[in-house]
Amino acid sequence: MAQYKYVHYLTNLGDEKFDPAHEPGRTSPHTGIYKCQGCGVEIICLAGDPLPPLSHHQHSLTHGGIAWRLIVATV
Ligand SMILES: [Zn+2]
Repeated sequence: MAQYKYVHYLTNLGDEKFDPAHEPGRTSPHTGIYKCQGCGVEIICLAGDPLPPLSHHQHSLTHGGIAWRLIVATV
C-alpha cells in the first residue's frame, strides 16, 4: 500500500479519474501511482506512457488478471 508521512501533501478528491481499472499496456491517462487490482503491486506511470504489460508480473489463479487503477495522481 502506498505510504506517506505528511498528510498536508495529499488531497482527498472524489474525482472519477480514480474509478476505472485500466488494461495492461494501455496508455496511462494520468501521471501518478497505479495499483494492480489483482495483487496490489504498485507502479508509477507518466500520462501518455503505456501502463506495464501482462508480462510485468505473475498472478496466481486467485488474483485474476492484471488491471491498473490510479490511486495517487500528481498535479
Ligand atoms: Zn498484479
